[in-house]
Amino acid sequence: MSQQTHTHVDERTARKVAEEARETEWTLPSFGKQLFLGDFRLDLIHPHPRPEGEPRRKGEEFLARLTEFCATRVDGALIERESRIPDEVLQGLRDLGALGMKIPEKYGGLGLSQLYYGRALMVAGSVSPALGALLSAHQSIGVPQPVKQFGTQEQKDEWLPRCARQVSAFLLTEPDVGSDPARLRATAVPDGDDYVLNGVKLWTTNGVIADLVVVMARVPKSDGHRGGISAFVVDMGTPGITVENRNAFMGLRGIENGVTRFHDVRVPKANLIGKEGAGLKIALTTLNTGRLSLPAMCAASGKWAAKIAREWSKERVQWGRPVGEHEAVSRKIAFISATAYAMEALLDLSSQLADDERNDIRIEAALAKLWSSEMACQAADELMQVRGGRGYETAESLAARGERGVPVEQLVRDLRINRIFEGSTEIMHLLIAREAVDAHLSVAGDIIDPDASTGQKARAAAKAGGFYARWLPTLVTGAGQRPNSYAEFGPLAKHLRYVERASRKLARSIFYAAGRWQGGLERKQGFLGRMVDIGAELYAMSAVCVRAHADASAAGGLGSGAPGKSALLLADAFCRQAHVRVEELFDGLWRNTDAMDVKLARAVLAGDFAWVEEGVLDPSIPGPWIAPSEPGASEKESVHRTIG
Ligand SMILES: Cc1cc2nc3c(=O)[nH]c(=O)nc-3n(C[C@H](O)[C@H](O)[C@H](O)COP(=O)(O)OP(=O)(O)OC[C@H]3O[C@@H](n4cnc5c(N)ncnc54)[C@H](O)[C@@H]3O)c2cc1C
Repeated sequence: MSQQTHTHVDERTARKVAEEARETEWTLPSFGKQLFLGDFRLDLIHPHPRPEGEPRRKGEEFLARLTEFCATRVDGALIERESRIPDEVLQGLRDLGALGMKIPEKYGGLGLSQLYYGRALMVAGSVSPALGALLSAHQSIGVPQPVKQFGTQEQKDEWLPRCARQVSAFLLTEPDVGSDPARLRATAVPDGDDYVLNGVKLWTTNGVIADLVVVMARVPKSDGHRGGISAFVVDMGTPGITVENRNAFMGLRGIENGVTRFHDVRVPKANLIGKEGAGLKIALTTLNTGRLSLPAMCAASGKWAAKIAREWSKERVQWGRPVGEHEAVSRKIAFISATAYAMEALLDLSSQLADDERNDIRIEAALAKLWSSEMACQAADELMQVRGGRGYETAESLAARGERGVPVEQLVRDLRINRIFEGSTEIMHLLIAREAVDAHLSVAGDIIDPDASTGQKARAAAKAGGFYARWLPTLVTGAGQRPNSYAEFGPLAKHLRYVERASRKLARSIFYAAGRWQGGLERKQGFLGRMVDIGAELYAMSAVCVRAHADASAAGGLGSGAPGKSALLLADAFCRQAHVRVEELFDGLWRNTDAMDVKLARAVLAGDFAWVEEGVLDPSIPGPWIAPSEPGASEKESVHRTIG
């Protein structure tokens, strides 16, 4: 029987819940927000911030200890084989302080900056992505971050020291609640000094071994209770909690991910974080920087992919040459290396902007998550192709027949989830698009609101007219059209000029689209997705130029090596590749099959094309499992499992 329990929530309610969870204030400047408005604010990201002083010393010292530990005490192949992180590895990480990387020192943590936290995840994630997932699920979305940001002093005193030594988890998803939290069914009913928690949470990373969890549950509205989705810290030792399953996945085989059931669990009122009804906002705000963990894992994968692609395509000779010298493979090597550099540039820049607290980085972090999770998968896929059959073979099998156990197929499997969790690519597109078009929505509000009256629309049109009269002329010309702009960037100046021009073109495109589709724009997900992807590529190009400028400067590079001029070469190559992608995306804004695809999908869903599925068996429908020797077996099985 299906586990799903269906709550009817219409689209309007789903949007309303998402809208209420949005942070609407912008007190600090945002490079990403301005980019979508055609205002290329290079000054917000250049010169590239550098780690300095005590945070740098502390970060480097910890990184050295963590690297030594991971290199000598963690066997990634063992974790993969046994689908488990050994106890001694977890204990070792605890002793190093790795469970409290972002917890302030006064609460027993290491108090690392976002930059060094990301670098630590890269080290741990490169030896075993499951280890990276354990650390980030605990620290980016688990208990410490919301308590640090939204907890009372008592809550901080009680839980942060525990979080520095214990594993925690974040429990939002339910069988019927994925991308749409409006359907949330877990309840927290006030009763005396407690809330009584009931519900089932699915896919709880770390949930199987966690000591503390953050649970999202709905408080019913009643006298004295504003109600709504709320965030609670729950001690997993509380009676009434059962972990019902340890889930297994395509990748990340060592993660302790479960199904957690709450049955009449009494949670003290003191465990509510923030106010009733503020749970989703807290979760989303936590993700502002929390979203940078996955880009760290992706950047780590890109670096390793670049190494393996280089080593293998130099060593492997076919058709009289190393495979890397055949153009088809050369292009893949160039893509992997340039993308690896860009993923690190995007991560480091976004992290340092977060550390500096001078910018609002919610769009930048979201763009980094979206872009890195997609590009890392592409790079890993290309790496698999470069490795040929060995790319598809498991590391264990390679080693068993005497070759180097290079886990490329594992990389492809491990990376895939990054496009789904912490906001799927489709949801990230909508979330970022919402912010990108916010300027339009806030002026054009009632014009495009399907519920507004004619009078309201007319008043809004007059107001919007004034805004656009001031704004549109700013999109006509800019620094990108002046040949000497950004000259200090040398060979990269032309790319920044392109970004500036493309940013204005993007803003103009959004304006045209808002005029053309008005309230229907929010449903044009093909358009919105491409628009956001353009913004992501432009942010990546900007980050790479600024990074390469710093790497090549006399003061020494920002990364581990000292790349000097070669950083400029790699950045130039990346920007040329990204430029081609951006042009394709611009083209696709207006020339595409979106409308036809929507129509076709509707017909497919109505069953009009079910005939196309005929002639195969469906392995997800169990057969009667009759022994092949039994008479009539083949007919019975085909009757049971054939589609159509
Ligand atoms: C390994 C793993 C670990 C996880 N860890 C955690 C965890 O620690 N805590 C936790 O709470 N959750 C966790 N999750 C859940 C994860 O965050 C969800 O899988 C994710 O939010 C997507 O939800 P869903 O799988 O239900 O997909 P659905 O929401 O059902 O979506 C299905 C598809 O439809 C698309 N879609 C949905 N809505 C829209 C829309 N409005 N417009 C366009 N497209 C849409 C989605 O992008 C997706 O492609 C984990 C999941 C996995 C697999």
